[in-house]
Amino acid sequence: MSTTLISLNSKAVKFTSTPKNMLINGQWVEAASGKRFETMNPANGEVITSVPEGDKEDINRAVAAARIAFDEGPWPKMKPAERAKLLFKFADLIEENAEELSHLETLDNGAPVNFTAGMASSAAENIRYHAGWATKITGETIPVSVPGNIFNYTRREPIGVCGQIIPWNAPLLMAVWKLAAPLSVGNTVVLKPAENTPLTALRLGELIQEAGFPDGVVNIVTGFGQTAGAALTAHPDVDKIAFTGSTAVGKQIMQAGAVNVKKVSLELGGKSAHIIFADADYDVALRNAANAIFMNSGQVCVAGSRLFVEKKIYDRFMSDLSEYTKNYRVGDGFDRSTVLGPLISEKQKNRVLNYLDIGQREGAELLVGGNTTASDLAKGHYVKPTVLANVTNDMRIAQEEIFGPVVSAMPFDDIDEVIKLANKTDYGLGGGICTTDVRKAHKVAHAMKTGNVWVNTYSLLDPASPFGGYKQSGIGRENGSASIDMYTEIKNVWINLD
Ligand code: ADP
Ligand code: MG
Repeated sequence: MSTTLISLNSKAVKFTSTPKNMLINGQWVEAASGKRFETMNPANGEVITSVPEGDKEDINRAVAAARIAFDEGPWPKMKPAERAKLLFKFADLIEENAEELSHLETLDNGAPVNFTAGMASSAAENIRYHAGWATKITGETIPVSVPGNIFNYTRREPIGVCGQIIPWNAPLLMAVWKLAAPLSVGNTVVLKPAENTPLTALRLGELIQEAGFPDGVVNIVTGFGQTAGAALTAHPDVDKIAFTGSTAVGKQIMQAGAVNVKKVSLELGGKSAHIIFADADYDVALRNAANAIFMNSGQVCVAGSRLFVEKKIYDRFMSDLSEYTKNYRVGDGFDRSTVLGPLISEKQKNRVLNYLDIGQREGAELLVGGNTTASDLAKGHYVKPTVLANVTNDMRIAQEEIFGPVVSAMPFDDIDEVIKLANKTDYGLGGGICTTDVRKAHKVAHAMKTGNVWVNTYSLLDPASPFGGYKQSGIGRENGSASIDMYTEIKNVWINLD
């Protein structure tokens, strides 16, 4: 199939035409070791540019800068309205450079330009939402019952230096989630982007500087998880770690954080159940079931990867879902007609294909999808959107996070059975329900042990709406007032008025 790729935004061409450096204390610097690594375009395996391979020494430098910016710098003491103003400026700059950011993101992680453009605009909105909070953080006055004449009140104070570690599946938006909320309340930040996708974080660093944030308030260290990431989580001068990524790494981060009892928040993996009742609006359910798993080629922590379909409509639904799935256009993210881009890496592709083998050996039936054979996709890490049927909830493909465009589908008989099955997982991030029965919708939504539930829609996000997981899907909630809780300490003050 011939494709016409849209041409790369000229500022993105310029940005990628030179090796990049990382941001420490307001300076663009090399790694102390001088080492660098390359970042690739997953659509064709070509090198885009190189970035410093930051390690322990660089993390030490960045944490020292963030420490001074917090302890001595103007940032936490700045008037809230002044902090808000800088954040609003940052959001405006993201909007002014949205096409460049979207193109850099598509180059680096492969997601289609329409998707990455949406991420750029969500990023700006997220910053504006949190900028609004800066001037609205209040404490309480508390009517205590102890003897005496006591005035008791609380203050919300920033925690300090936040070490922010993000994944490669939505790098731009994840970077902003890890910047906007902590900055709004006066924390300073060391951000470590994923090694596969460092570019948009570095471009955000330039915009942070252009907006006029004081030096050291935001530091960005590029590097690998086992080295730079581990050094950040173990650093005694880091007060809080916020991490988005796999459950396996989340467990290591919790352990590493114990060194100085860091506040740790985690947004981890998922194996979200999507439940289709026979009374659902059929076409809406079909579209939702497909988009819930295939969006961003399934590389989404809330992806609706376990599909439960009421037995009465199961056969028809699976047949229609297979037809629907065949029509997704897989290809380069710079082709406007692409709906599913490549997976992030060869490793991720092999992991996904391996799960297809595992599933079929376990007895699942592959209705549609699998490896790509088209010659124009040969250089990229593509997997076709895949539907596995005849799955049972105890199979590995129903219990383990695949993080690819693969849905594991199974029939169910009744509401009580499906609630039990949906909750039979170590994860608890998202969940979906399609029904026109309002009682069923609320009943199942309340019974699902997950942080997010969508009814007759899926994976909507909003900066005002708290996001996070139950069970092994995480600790804490990002966005909404919950993110203010997450990035502040409560101080309680007792005053004897006698
Ligand atoms: P994936 O395996 O899909 O790449 P990860 O959870 O490993 O997802 O990666 C998410 C982020 O965590 C990346 O920025 C990565 O560099 C970082 N990371 C990986 N291992 C560690 C670790 N041991 N300590 C801190 N950060 C890590
Ligand atoms: Mg890349």
